[in-house]
Amino acid sequence: MAPVNKLHQKYDYICIGGGSGGVASSRRAASYGKKVALIESSPALGGTCVNVGCVPKKIMWHAADLADRLRHASSGYHFKNVPSPQFDWASFKPQRDAYIRKLNGIYEKNLEKEHVDYHGGTARMVSPTEVQITPRDGGEPYTIAGDYITIATGGRPTVPSEDKIPGASLGIDSDGFFDLEDQPKRVAVVGAGYIAVELAGVLHTLGSETHVLIRHERVLRTFDPILQETLTPWMEHTGINLHKNITVVKVEGQQGGELTVHLNNGTQLKVDCLLWAIGRHANTEDLGLEELGIELDKKGDVVVDDWQKAQFVEGKPQLDNIYAIGDVQGKALLTPVAIAAGRRLSNRLFGPDKFKNDKLSYEDIPTVVFSHPTIGTVGLTEPEARQIYGSAVKIYKSSFRSLYFSQIDEEHKEPTVYKLVVVGEEERLVGVHIIGQGSDEVLQGFAVAVKMRARKQDLDDTVAIHPTSGEELVTLR
Ligand code: FAD
Ligand code: NDP
Repeated sequence: MAPVNKLHQKYDYICIGGGSGGVASSRRAASYGKKVALIESSPALGGTCVNVGCVPKKIMWHAADLADRLRHASSGYHFKNVPSPQFDWASFKPQRDAYIRKLNGIYEKNLEKEHVDYHGGTARMVSPTEVQITPRDGGEPYTIAGDYITIATGGRPTVPSEDKIPGASLGIDSDGFFDLEDQPKRVAVVGAGYIAVELAGVLHTLGSETHVLIRHERVLRTFDPILQETLTPWMEHTGINLHKNITVVKVEGQQGGELTVHLNNGTQLKVDCLLWAIGRHANTEDLGLEELGIELDKKGDVVVDDWQKAQFVEGKPQLDNIYAIGDVQGKALLTPVAIAAGRRLSNRLFGPDKFKNDKLSYEDIPTVVFSHPTIGTVGLTEPEARQIYGSAVKIYKSSFRSLYFSQIDEEHKEPTVYKLVVVGEEERLVGVHIIGQGSDEVLQGFAVAVKMRARKQDLDDTVAIHPTSGEELVTLR
């Protein structure tokens, strides 16, 4: 479907941004028979998740996981003639890209099926009900109007400025990672969050010499301590060069060539690729938001209420037809969150009465880190629970090696560590934190248990599934 270019159209609903949130919200609104426009500036629909996030990342994680399995197949499980894995990045990338292009096409078709008008261009709000679109094909800007407008413009990676770190721009970010045509032989990843852990894990497992530069002692510092304490030493154990209490002060070299990364302890690292993974920030510039008085926080995220309604600074009209969903509102930067918020918003605005109170709760959002091994986490961490509930908190913990690793030599046996955080006499479940093979798949069901505030007894009453790792969560004492 070619993007539409209809001048001065009047819509019931306009979504700015064709990523996870915008596509979900616009399709849901259209499913109620509303006239809907979606505006996307990039030629590739689907936003971060599809193009430079979850999807290509998970594919790369699968490649890395396979490399581990191939090694285990020959060393532990006595398969003969298994070659030592040599990943051919250069020939795999076009195949991965082709799959992403296919998804882009499916996204377009889905919009068409739901009769959402797709405008290909960059949007800017010019009044509370009007959006100007500058077509990406170079055509004349035009304006469309809508009763309700949702900002779903997502975010982008943060890279230090040249002022702060001379040479910083010689590095790439996670978008650049997915552009790499060849596997870097030596790479330095700066950051300690999801992206640093995931991409460093992929690069290392696929054979790059990998350095991770963190400002403190551990990775994933906002996660439950058992996850930090298990993953950090395990990353080191597997051969990732973890540089702790380190910051980058200067980068020298040439893009595509050898880079010298100067560190604050006076040492230097020579690498072929430097990857910044130090967080993301919202796409809120040049959208006309300030002119309308839409409130942005210090980071530049759109401030919204519990109903995703944009908030307005004092002295400006307090409008109630403008919303923001997904990464642009700065809370829980996850695809299912953007989708859920977008669908609920459209349910409420345009759906039947039963949805008039439909909104997303930002509590108990389950999330997974595709590390090696994977991490799953939902609800309160132990320190958070103790802060709220004090001595009413009880912890159940287990640490073991999964059966799969019984056949693998000691050095390569991955750890599994599980923790339940429960509260009160009834031992209501408020947090589940797990690391170990398969944690990404184990978590979803236990997230339901947390959401329901199941009792520890409910877990005990559930018959275990044997032999699995997950069974450990219903047999903890
Ligand atoms: P986006 O998907 O970013 O979409 C915003 C869209 O708006 C973009 O397409 C952009 O081009 C468009 N846009 C911006 N400005 C304008 C404008 N002025 N006019 C028109 N269009 C505009 N989440 C998970 O749940 N699981 C994962 O495994 C996971 N992995 C990730 C891995 C990486 C490397 C990254 C970077 C992110 C990952 N995420 C993951 C997060 C997830 O991708 C985001 O939370 C999600 O894409 C947010 O959706 P969104 O709709 O808010 O924004
Ligand atoms: P995160 O916010 O997760 O982590 C960035 C980390 O980098 C910070 O926690 C901080 O850790 C460190 N950092 C910050 N500034 C600097 C700096 N100047 N120098 C060095 N280190 C710094 O951001 P990411 O970019 O990793 O990911 C962004 C978001 O995308 C995630 O929060 C997540 O919501 C989403 N995402 C989700 C994934 C999933 O669901 N699997 C995968 C990838 C992304 P410290 O304070 O310890 O130094």
